Amino acid sequence: MEKKRYYHQHVVMKEIGLQGQEKISNSSVAIIGAGALGGRVAELLVRAGVGKLTVIDRDIIEESNLQRQTLFLPRDVGRSKALIAKERLQEINPITSTKALPIHLNAKNIISLQKARVVVDCTDNFETRFLLNDFCKKEKIPLVYGAAIMTEGYAMAILPEGPCLSCFLKEASLETCETLGVLNTITTSIAAIQATLTFKVLVGEKISPILYYYDIWQQSLKSLNVKKRVTCQTCKGIYTFLNKDGPIKMIKFCSTNLYQIMGEKIALSTLKRRWEKMDRVTDDKEALRFKEILLFKDGRALIDAPSEQAALAIYSKWIGS
Ligand SMILES: [Zn+2]
Repeated sequence: MEKKRYYHQHVVMKEIGLQGQEKISNSSVAIIGAGALGGRVAELLVRAGVGKLTVIDRDIIEESNLQRQTLFLPRDVGRSKALIAKERLQEINPITSTKALPIHLNAKNIISLQKARVVVDCTDNFETRFLLNDFCKKEKIPLVYGAAIMTEGYAMAILPEGPCLSCFLKEASLETCETLGVLNTITTSIAAIQATLTFKVLVGEKISPILYYYDIWQQSLKSLNVKKRVTCQTCKGIYTFLNKDGPIKMIKFCSTNLYQIMGEKIALSTLKRRWEKMDRVTDDKEALRFKEILLFKDGRALIDAPSEQAALAIYSKWIGS
């Protein structure tokens, strides 16, 4: 593929130019979440030639994701979002390099984001958002926040010296499992703002601490000025979320109704041989799919079960206690 031709429409723009394109091509970006926002941001960044992209997602693809998660196809249902995203992105632009991490991000493994020039927050839970906020403040890495629900969404670039997520978002507003729905055009719009803010950071353009609010149905777009909150812990250098203990053993995902169990690191090949005698096993190299289980090599299992008890029972029957 001819690099010059591929990026021509960006190179001729004064906002990017040849120099900006070089900076984009030499940069490394981490995207947390490969769903509606993350998949779109990843696609835009990869098409624009971001040199190294890391995509992190703990979840699997469901049929109800396909309405808005544009990287995925019906045949991907049941497979890891991060791994499929990597496959697609690599096809979209083979010049760039994409790394997939199908992990549950926590205070320990977040260190893998240290080399990123920009971190893009496309998660759907507050725990991870505040963890990213703490980490990026501490490491002085620009963080591009984005969120969307129903017909509205928010986006903002959180810069090392500026106000942070905790300055305007309350930790108390924890997610509920209530399904409110989301319009597929708002996720694409918010992702476009996030990708634009990422380009601006990468080419070294000045960015204002503006929180974008967009209700695409009501035709309302606002730029809200965010100021540092005097009592903000993160801005004072107190990183509560980075100091939390290891991963919780079991959690239920609101998004997919799956149970996640954190087990010990596991040799997938041994288990594969054992499982194959019982039923069909799908091998993704980094993960095995068997019955209602998706098991990753770091020992993390996602189990489709009607209750916590049932999930634990499936886990101990097929993987071990
Ligand atoms: Zn703050």
